[in-house]
Amino acid sequence: MAWITAVFRLVGFVALGAIVGWYFGDAQLGALLTAFAVLVFWSLQVWRLQEWLQDSTQAPPDLHGIWGEIIARIYKSQRDANAHQERLQSTVDYLLGSFAAMRDGVVIVEDSGRLRWCNDAAQGLLGLRYPDDTGQPVSNIVRVPEFAEYLGAGEFSEPLVFETAGTFTLHLQLVVTRFAEGDTLLFVRDISDRVRIEQMRREFVGNVSHELRTPLTVITGYLDTFLADPGNMPAPYVTALKQMAGQADRMENLLKDLLWLSRIESTERAEKEEQVDIAALLDELQDEVTYMYPDNPLQLEISCRDKIQGDYQELYSAASNLVLNAFKYSPDHTPIVASWEQSGTEFRLAVQDRGVGIDPSHFSRLTERFYRVDDSRSSQTGGTGLGLAIVKHVAAAHGGHLEINSKLGEGSTFTLVFPADI
Ligand code: ADP
Repeated sequence: MAWITAVFRLVGFVALGAIVGWYFGDAQLGALLTAFAVLVFWSLQVWRLQEWLQDSTQAPPDLHGIWGEIIARIYKSQRDANAHQERLQSTVDYLLGSFAAMRDGVVIVEDSGRLRWCNDAAQGLLGLRYPDDTGQPVSNIVRVPEFAEYLGAGEFSEPLVFETAGTFTLHLQLVVTRFAEGDTLLFVRDISDRVRIEQMRREFVGNVSHELRTPLTVITGYLDTFLADPGNMPAPYVTALKQMAGQADRMENLLKDLLWLSRIESTERAEKEEQVDIAALLDELQDEVTYMYPDNPLQLEISCRDKIQGDYQELYSAASNLVLNAFKYSPDHTPIVASWEQSGTEFRLAVQDRGVGIDPSHFSRLTERFYRVDDSRSSQTGGTGLGLAIVKHVAAAHGGHLEINSKLGEGSTFTLVFPADI
C-alpha cells in the first residue's frame, strides 16, 4: 500500500532527523526540522499536482512517492474517460451522419418545442435552417396550422398528412416519436407523388364512369324501346334482349356506385355540412325499403333524436347500402333492424340482420372495392361489390368508422360509429 510506505518513510525521515539532531545535541530539533522539510516537499508536490489539474491537457508532472501514485491514477482515469467520450462521440456522429444522409427529413425537437437538430432533407422539406434556427420554436418556423396543432396536441398514434404553404405545394407525412425525457424525433416524408397518383386514379375512375354513362343510356334506351313491344320479335331475340337489359342495369348500377365513390373520396368535393337528423333519415329509408320489400318492413329502434353534422345524401347512401345488404343477404321474412343511439361519447347507427352471416376471416377485406365473400351469391343478388367501400368512406369523411360483427349462419351487425362531438 502506497500510503503505508509513505507513513513509514515519514517516520523513517523523522527518526533519522532525530538521530542527527541527537548527534548535534538536540534530537527534538532534528526531528522537527526533518518533519518541516518533509512538509515543504509535500506542499510542493501538492502545488504541482494542483497546477496540473487546472490544465490537465499537459503531460502529468513527474512526482515522487504517494503523489506520483495519485497523479498516475488520476491520469489513467482521465484517459479512460476521454476514450469513453470519444467512443460515444463517434457513435453520436455515426447516428447523426446516417440521419443526415436520409432522404426523409429528421428533426430533433426539445421538450420545450424548440429545434435542436435537423438534417438537410428536413431543411428542404420544412424550410428549417440549421444551425441558424437552433433554439427557435419549430411551430413558429413551419407556418402550417395543422402542424402546430398536431405537435401541440401531443397525440402521435396516427401520422399527420399536411400540405406545405408556398409556391410549390408539397404533401408531407409526419411521424413523431418521443424519446429521452419529452424530446421528440420528427420524421418527415414527401408523399406528393403518392397523393398525385391517387388523385389521378380517382379522377380516371370518375371520368371513365362518367364517359361510359352516355353510351349506356343510349343502349338502355333502345333496349327499353324494343322490349316495350316484344310481340313483333322472334322469341330468342326477346330472351337475348332481356338478358342484355339485365346486364345493362347491372352496369348502370356499377357506374353509379363508381361515380358516387369517386365523389366521396375526392378531397375537392364540396363540403356540404349540415345538421343531419339520422332518425328522420332512417324513417325515409324505411319508406323506401317498404316499397321494395312490402312483406318485410324494416324495423326501427330510435333511442336518441340527436343530429350529427355531415352530408345528408352521403349518410343516406351509407345507411341504405347497409340496409339493402341486410335484405340481400338474409332469407325472406327474417327481421332486419336499424337502430340509432348514443353510447358514451359515440353515436351508433347499426343495421342488424339474421341472415347468412360472414366468416370473421373476411372482415379485414370486406370494405375493399369489389371484394366479395361469395361471388356466386353476390352476382345473384346483383351487388356491385362497392357498397361497403362507399360505407367506409362515408364514415371516414364524417370522422367515424365502420364496425363489423357477424357469425356465419347467424347474421350480421354493421355499425357506423361517429364521435359524439361532431
Ligand atoms: P355487394 O355489392 O357485393 O353486396 P358490398 O361491398 O356491399 O358488395 O359487400 C361486400 C360483400 O360483403 C358482399 O359481397 C357480401 O358477401 C358481404 N356482405 C355485405 N353485407 C352483408 C350482410 N349483411 N350479410 C352477409 N354478407 C354481407
